[in-house]
Amino acid sequence: MIYPWQQQQWLSIQNMISQQRLAQSLLLQGTAGMGKFDFAKCIAATLLCEKPQQFACDHCRACQLRKAQSHPDLFIVTPLEKSKAIRIDQIRELSEKLNHTPQLGQCQVAIISPADALNRAAANALLKTLEEPNGRVLLILVASQLSHLPATILSRCQRLQFSAAENEATCAWLQNQLGSSVDASLLLRLADHAPLKAIALAESNYVQMRDQLLQHLWKLSRESANPLSSVTEYVKHDLQLFLYALLTLSMDVAKLQLGVHTNALVNHDRTEPLQALGKCLRATFLQSYIEKIQHAYRLSLSGTHLNPQLLLESLLIDWACQQSI
Ligand SMILES: [Zn+2]
Repeated sequence: MIYPWQQQQWLSIQNMISQQRLAQSLLLQGTAGMGKFDFAKCIAATLLCEKPQQFACDHCRACQLRKAQSHPDLFIVTPLEKSKAIRIDQIRELSEKLNHTPQLGQCQVAIISPADALNRAAANALLKTLEEPNGRVLLILVASQLSHLPATILSRCQRLQFSAAENEATCAWLQNQLGSSVDASLLLRLADHAPLKAIALAESNYVQMRDQLLQHLWKLSRESANPLSSVTEYVKHDLQLFLYALLTLSMDVAKLQLGVHTNALVNHDRTEPLQALGKCLRATFLQSYIEKIQHAYRLSLSGTHLNPQLLLESLLIDWACQQSI
């Protein structure tokens, strides 16, 4: 099944299939947490099913094999280790399998997720497969950071965009997932309207960590705290989420300094303390600080090994030191 915010994209896929306009390679693009990987698996299930209606039937032989993860014409390539690259030998192995004819039905489907985790050699190897069109194969690439993919790959893919999910059905779905005691619309906003990211934030006590960080930043700006006093606490959290909190808070302060309406803030529920911070931070400092966090955040997303303790210490000392400049 698809998620409530993916109706439009699913309609596009159905039209492409019925009008035989589906290209050999499809790129599902958009921010992380939109359920693109699940969507890719849903396309694969429907194409491989022996009696598909709007979706795969879930009962035929092909569906049974797929559910048992043993369908011979479905290949899913993901990094062998979390947050690591997809390697060239994985792509070579895939290419080799795609050279054979389908074993069960009319087509083979391969999903590469996240495609932005392909290292350069793997991307080049994939390009060879893309350059040799084969009517029996559908390649689905799932990516959130297109800048990590070579233009030569991007230009060969039919693209499907997944953007912010803000409709009522999405909010109701999220509320149902999180339970009634959680503010689903706040989490959706904090997650940049990516519902699965909102769930990840809820599961990691993100709001509590963000509030602790905001309070710490405020104390540092009043020169009433040691920048390193909470680092051991922060290190216990996921580094990506900590950087995300620091980035969105800093960007919100910058937006307020520029006179942007409070409705445009990610941390909309903390407008007042953010406004207070904006009054004691220099815009030039904030700009270079945001660039520094963005750089670290991108590295963390791409699986580069970072030393959380050193990185957090450096970021908090920078914040504290700008007050005395
Ligand atoms: Zn079926």
